[in-house]
Amino acid sequence: MTALHEARFYETLESSKVLCTLCPHDCRIANGARGACAVRYNHNGKLYTLVYDKVVAREVNPIEKKPLFHFYPGSQAYSISTVGCNLRCSFCQNWYISQWPKDHLPKHIEITREQGSEFICPQLENIEHGVVGEAVTPETIVQSTKATGCLSVSYTFTEPTIFYELAYDTAVIARDQGLKNTFVSNGYISEAPLRELATVLDAANIDLKFFREDTYRRVSRAKLQPILDAIHLYYELGVWLEITTLIIPGLNDSDDELKHIADFIHDINPAIPWHVTQYYPAYKMDRPHTPLETLRRAREIGLETGLRYVYEGNVPGEGGENTYCYQCGALLIERFGFYIKQNRIIHSCCPECHAHIDGVGMSGV
Ligand code: SF4
Repeated sequence: MTALHEARFYETLESSKVLCTLCPHDCRIANGARGACAVRYNHNGKLYTLVYDKVVAREVNPIEKKPLFHFYPGSQAYSISTVGCNLRCSFCQNWYISQWPKDHLPKHIEITREQGSEFICPQLENIEHGVVGEAVTPETIVQSTKATGCLSVSYTFTEPTIFYELAYDTAVIARDQGLKNTFVSNGYISEAPLRELATVLDAANIDLKFFREDTYRRVSRAKLQPILDAIHLYYELGVWLEITTLIIPGLNDSDDELKHIADFIHDINPAIPWHVTQYYPAYKMDRPHTPLETLRRAREIGLETGLRYVYEGNVPGEGGENTYCYQCGALLIERFGFYIKQNRIIHSCCPECHAHIDGVGMSGV
């Protein structure tokens, strides 16, 4: 049986129920049941994370794969994840690990399907939980990051909020040893954990999937406003921030919705990079690939709104992945997919007009 590790950010309620306050779902979890993410488990009024020592993926990636284009471009990120997610996106492109706990949940275990209100799950006789992954400690992750020559640890692939305890403990050690930490997240995290996380976090790429409450609820089983609030807070807390929107035909590809997203980012800071990426069929959604023209239109909307950096993703070689100077238009970083062909930035400035180029470590590694 997987070792249990007590979770953070919860309160014990009456009748051995718990209230998990890690993410905006605010699950009230009955004794013996799990939260909506299916990896946080109430046993006798104590909440446990089932994934603290269950790492399901760890690999070295270019930081551009996150995508983070303005954070030490050309560096390598030691990238880890566990199974699980607090959202249920029907188009998830990492569904085989993000939705694993829900799709493989033993029949006798129930998860909370309703959040923020009273919901009673059946009492259970045992605590079998069937979470996959290898036992890897925070210390081992940091050692591996250094041994592979990576600059940063990236908490990614699934939703790192739901493996908060592992991510935070690792990030503290990594920071102490001179490494950077980055989150690739859906932004569904509550204020208190985010404030704590930001003390050891250097950069984040947050998904802003839609700009409509009804679409978030219907397709991802989440609410829009907490994500907008979290994006603001990440920025206010000084974490380097980039935003990604997967453009799905017929779902979020209208000019109106793209303009709303671009305006939202611009109102925070036009220097925040926006990645508009190509959808392809995955998990339970089977729509056609996003046409290249749609990505180009989204990029144009972002640039016309005044954003300094807008990138097309998942379409290597199309040119929409290069960095150009927002002031004089000079080519600064030429990319092919996740790989950098040339970086012309000198001391974080454009070599032509000397404009300051936003980001961290932009002159390359
Ligand atoms: S879905 Fe969110 S609130 Fe519910 S148990 Fe998981 S992390 Fe906690």
